[in-house]
Amino acid sequence: MPRPVEALIHREALAHNLRRARAAAPDTRLWAVVKANAYGHGIERAYPGLAGADGFALLDLAEAERVRALGWRGPVLLLEGVFEPRDLELCSRLGLQHAVHCSAQVDWLAAHKTGRAHHVHLKLNSGMNRLGFRPDEFRSAWARLAALPQVDAITLMTHFSDADGARGIAHQMTVFDAATRDLPGERSVANSAAILRHGAVAFDWVRAGILGYGSAPDFPEHDIAYWGLLPTMTLRTRVIGVQSLAPGDTVGYGSTFRAERPMRIGIAACGYADGYPRHCGTGTPVLVDGTRSGTVGRVSMDMLAVDLSALPQSGIGSEVTLWGRGPGTSVLPIDEVAHAAGTIGYELMCALAPRVPTRAVD
Ligand SMILES: *Cc1c(COP(=O)(O)O)cnc(C)c1O
Repeated sequence: MPRPVEALIHREALAHNLRRARAAAPDTRLWAVVKANAYGHGIERAYPGLAGADGFALLDLAEAERVRALGWRGPVLLLEGVFEPRDLELCSRLGLQHAVHCSAQVDWLAAHKTGRAHHVHLKLNSGMNRLGFRPDEFRSAWARLAALPQVDAITLMTHFSDADGARGIAHQMTVFDAATRDLPGERSVANSAAILRHGAVAFDWVRAGILGYGSAPDFPEHDIAYWGLLPTMTLRTRVIGVQSLAPGDTVGYGSTFRAERPMRIGIAACGYADGYPRHCGTGTPVLVDGTRSGTVGRVSMDMLAVDLSALPQSGIGSEVTLWGRGPGTSVLPIDEVAHAAGTIGYELMCALAPRVPTRAVD
């Protein structure tokens, strides 16, 4: 029998969450962002749940090929564009749209021989200072692209640094509006946080990543229940051992936890080699047979301890939900676990380990 740890991908929840994005940004076309293997969900597993999107956006050429291999004939977008000139051949062959964020990418396109003109997304650096042309370079880059026979459409694109937080998007929208004024072409600006918190700026296309995967981009200010999102990934396992502790007993590596009173703990078959974050301290929420409890002591490679003191009916074989959906209607949002580990839901779902057997459920 394999270890009892497994991950479930909830396809109907993916579809539900995309409908939430559409409701928040109506009359706008929707990219489902499926980079990082659909945020750890698996592109092939997630695809049926996300097929209501208008296009798929990602970074990796091999992932773009996988989306085409699934039979998707609609738009596919490379969010970082191509990494070297010969990548453009695949873009021509598979009809991929691609970002253009620097002048080297314009040069490569100008030298590219193709019978099929490309739809490109010209990226403005409106303040994040990651990828994109500066505002004072943007118009000349647009004019160069517009003159190329290799290009037949230019979407205007930027990315927000603070859509989830207090600084918001207004300062970047001012830069975007000024740099793109009077330029023709569709606009693509909003990530999940901007869709949910600033839906009115949605323009022609929005790029929904994390909200599709059932994590609130602005947790803990808001949680998935507030945004009407459902968990799309469950990580669960079972209790494989039970220990009774006397006051003064310690648990796990480093003896970081010491019992103050008699306790019963369960040893769950999941650890950091499964993608569960090691940085969670004692008390990180878990569900045991659907009831909330907490972790005890350090997470080790293959196991972690959970408190069973208030759950006398639980023991060997009890179901432990690390995040996602538990038995019945119980839910443990991935954001709560991420918060306890000092990180964000994105990182936990992307770090689900390859050794965890994963299957889609409907
Ligand atoms: C990842 C990414 C997104 C999606 O961001 P979320 O916060 O997951 O919605 C949108 N646009 C670009 C350019 C990205 O790289």
